[in-house]
Amino acid sequence: MKKAFVVGHPIKHSRSPLIHGFWLKQHGIAGSYERIDVEPVNFGRFLRNFHEQGFAGGNVTIPHKETAFAGVTRRTERAERLKAVNTLWIENGVLWGDNTDVLGFMANLDQSLGTGWEQAVDNVLVLGAGGAARGIVAGLQDRPMKRIVVANRTVSKAEDLVRDLERYSAVKLEALAWDELDRALPTSQLIVNTTSLGMAGQPPILIDLAKVPGNAVVSDIVYVPLKTPLLAAAEAHGLRTVDGLGMLLHQAVPGFERWFGVRPEVTPDLRALIVADIESAT
Ligand code: NAP
Repeated sequence: MKKAFVVGHPIKHSRSPLIHGFWLKQHGIAGSYERIDVEPVNFGRFLRNFHEQGFAGGNVTIPHKETAFAGVTRRTERAERLKAVNTLWIENGVLWGDNTDVLGFMANLDQSLGTGWEQAVDNVLVLGAGGAARGIVAGLQDRPMKRIVVANRTVSKAEDLVRDLERYSAVKLEALAWDELDRALPTSQLIVNTTSLGMAGQPPILIDLAKVPGNAVVSDIVYVPLKTPLLAAAEAHGLRTVDGLGMLLHQAVPGFERWFGVRPEVTPDLRALIVADIESAT
């Protein structure tokens, strides 16, 4: 029986077991995907020993993504760029790490907007400069666009992000102070919220959508609630929206394929299962 895991601390709220459990059942695979709570002090040992315990690999979540990056033997280019690993597997006896958040975000945009959507996008505004924002900027900068503006409450973190990532593509990266946000709105054809604002229990993110072009797309990577106040406001302004659940579902695809040998699909049935779970929790 093939076994995989999601490791974090805490881990009990992870929806990854529901996603991988759905695909295991759908494909009739005799396998398991389990939550493992490991405290930071024990993570190094876990990384060295999981294969001996019969695991093919697994996902890594908060707070272990950076330690996993440092602890693997080989990394994909994406993981190198982000200095964080969320997917582990063993290949020819070697411990590999990848970062599939990047793929998840981009695959969700492609599925929601149709391939080639970036041809109508010159400028992107990314709100936030945390771990998730890095993955999103890394994914976007590989597409043909002119400029990605990163606005963050702590502007020095946006500046750090720009400095770390700008060498990877010709797309111009620019840091913007939070109180200058309005300046970027009229020229942004894609706006992505990567802050935790709008999450259940957090205040909403307040931006003046009347200043945004009518053909703009507004995306939020927060997925609890599924329709965040930002997405509801964007809909009310007649703007296209992309919610955050698709990113979570798509980032799971490459890991499942590595551990269980089948490339799964993000289908309406899977989405409905996770939506029901989110709605029962909120
Ligand atoms: P993080 O590294 O802690 O970054 C949090 C970001 O939110 C920072 O930019 C922070 O700004 C900003 N922020 C927090 N409170 C704020 C406030 N009151 N006003 C303005 N900005 C504020 O977290 P993360 O890992 O990037 O995750 C961010 C969000 O993305 C979370 O809600 C997470 O659940 C979601 N997420 C979703 C997916 C998905 O698959 N859909 C994947 C990953 C993450 P400062 O730098 O100024 O503190």
